[in-house]
Amino acid sequence: MILNIQKGQDNPILRQKANKVSSITPEIKELVFNMVKTMDANDGIGLAAPQIGKSLQIFVMRPDSSQEVMALINPEIIKTSFKKISFEEGCLSLPNITRKVKRAAKIVIRALNLEGQSVEIQAKELTARVIQHEIDHLNGILIIDK
Ligand code: ZN
Repeated sequence: MILNIQKGQDNPILRQKANKVSSITPEIKELVFNMVKTMDANDGIGLAAPQIGKSLQIFVMRPDSSQEVMALINPEIIKTSFKKISFEEGCLSLPNITRKVKRAAKIVIRALNLEGQSVEIQAKELTARVIQHEIDHLNGILIIDK
């Protein structure tokens, strides 16, 4: 099912800190499945749960169409590079707006995968950027704040 994308810089669900997921239930897995469908239907490369109206710490991403989609739960950034890169970003929740956003070039995050296992992911370039953009969503932060 394709879900409705929440839009607008003053939309309350996009402005609050999302709740941690306490257990990965069949409903969470279904939500993730629908988030991937919604991301793809909108030609997005990442989507966070608040963007479809759920205040939960979940995001999905596929920065490169040759990659498999990744779904991450309760993500935490544990390392960021000193090096920052500025690059133009858009957001499915803010149509027609782009902003140059400065972000860490490389990061390491820890999160749960859909099997409930804790995973550590090292990312750079566009993948690192998408992860930081989506984690911002989980904290109620939008590109216009940058
Ligand atoms: Zn966004």
